[in-house]
Amino acid sequence: MSARIIDGKAIAAELRAKVAAEVTRLSTQHGVTPGLAVVLAGNNPASESYVGSKAKATKEAGMTSFDHRLPDSVSQAELMALVNKLNADPAVHGILVQLPLPQQIDAQQVLDAVDPTKDVDGFHPVNAGRLASGLPALVPCTPLGCVLLAKTVHPSLAGLDAVVIGRSNIVGKPLALLLLQKDATVTICHSKSRDLEKIAASADILVAAVGKAKLITGRMVKPGACVIDVGVNRLTDGSLAGDVDFAAASEIAGWITPVPGGVGPMTIAMLLENRVRAASAVK
Ligand code: NAD
Repeated sequence: MSARIIDGKAIAAELRAKVAAEVTRLSTQHGVTPGLAVVLAGNNPASESYVGSKAKATKEAGMTSFDHRLPDSVSQAELMALVNKLNADPAVHGILVQLPLPQQIDAQQVLDAVDPTKDVDGFHPVNAGRLASGLPALVPCTPLGCVLLAKTVHPSLAGLDAVVIGRSNIVGKPLALLLLQKDATVTICHSKSRDLEKIAASADILVAAVGKAKLITGRMVKPGACVIDVGVNRLTDGSLAGDVDFAAASEIAGWITPVPGGVGPMTIAMLLENRVRAASAVK
């Protein structure tokens, strides 16, 4: 193996310590304790686990966590009423509606109802539009984490060729916009892209955000590239794997993130940071 590991867990821990210090400052100087409301509807085990990790990290950073658990049978009206109540609550600086929502719910309508200034997930169309326009915005946490990881390898991304595989609204698209803001030359690939292998192999920074284990083979990695693996896939033996064939890519890449321990911890750290930003804006 030649690639160096980008240790997302360690980088996230540093970031979380900085966030905790900022929380103390906000609390002592301004009497503001950032609060996060997490809304979980239904009992999806993966969602339960994500929400549990976010609540734990919130408390460890000295912030307040307000948990709202709703049954799988919750109605659109009940969910909308809760979001409106949280929008009006001054103790709540960030609102996170855990996806997926039960099938009877129009998820977009719920996300659109979140106050954009409390939208710590960065999913509201106002924040998406502001990001696309290069204006200050609350930006989705996973793409923010990916950029920070890439910057530990390349402090300046200017002029580098970045290839993002995946075009979702929560990962691929915002990540491509952030990389563009950092002056990288960005290509976005998706399920209809032709010759993925050739495009991927041109990347100085290759990010995989698809959700297909081992989609990215060693042949798709440019020698020395920085490979960031966002994918989280549960294998038949119960273990987790990313979208990148880690063993093969490690032989060729210069730097690579592991799964778990790469992008995942950064997502939670960036969520905390987004919350502090939202709380700072109202102090
Ligand atoms: P998504 O399903 O919304 O989007 C997947 C994207 O991959 C789509 O844009 C699609 O066009 C593209 N795609 C599908 N097949 C492809 C192929 N063969 N070649 C190229 N592109 C292809 O998924 P998402 O929400 O963006 O998440 C992607 C992955 O990242 C998932 O595994 C998810 O679990 C993971 N994820 C991890 C974190 C984290 O914190 N680590 C956060 C968010 C998502």
